[in-house]
Amino acid sequence: MTEHLMKILVVGDWNVGKSSFVHRYVNGHFNKAYKMTVGVDFSVKLLHWSDKEKVRLQLWDIAGQERFISMTRIYYKGALGCVVMFDVTSSSSFLNCRHWKQDLDHKAMLPNGNSIPCILLANKCDLAQRVVSAESINRFSKANGFITWIEISVKENKNIGEAMRVLVQEILAVQ
Ligand code: GDP
Repeated sequence: MTEHLMKILVVGDWNVGKSSFVHRYVNGHFNKAYKMTVGVDFSVKLLHWSDKEKVRLQLWDIAGQERFISMTRIYYKGALGCVVMFDVTSSSSFLNCRHWKQDLDHKAMLPNGNSIPCILLANKCDLAQRVVSAESINRFSKANGFITWIEISVKENKNIGEAMRVLVQEILAVQ
């Protein structure tokens, strides 16, 4: 049995649903390992990936920021994957994904020098008052080097596990 340890960052503007996402995904196995003074904490989820492989995910969620702030390099250290999240009812949270992705590519890279796999998650798709179209998300995702983008609703538990599987799959593929 092989066990992969993966540090995964969850970034995006305040209020897009990052901590709700992590709580939902980690579910009953929620484990608030510790809370750092800089406002970062991580949760752990163990995946039984295949007969021969387990994946231990460390999800690092930034907390308490009202807008984009460049994060410290320590936060990025050793990260193998990233979730960039926005809220489909907030165009500013969508526009800021550019900053989050650029900051990521600036500060984190794989041991081979490539940028780390990153997925774009469009949260709150249960809400009727969406202001960001699928077409613009698609264009943005392609232009900015995301693996792909997926519409999710943390509230309705839609596409959460699916999105993380796509990310983990890509992380394993580029190792
Ligand atoms: P964070 O600041 O990015 O960590 O965001 P939170 O996880 O604190 O969520 C911000 C607010 O959005 C909370 O009131 C959540 O209940 C709400 N929220 C999170 N996900 C969803 C969703 O999928 N749909 C709806 N309607 N609300 C959501």
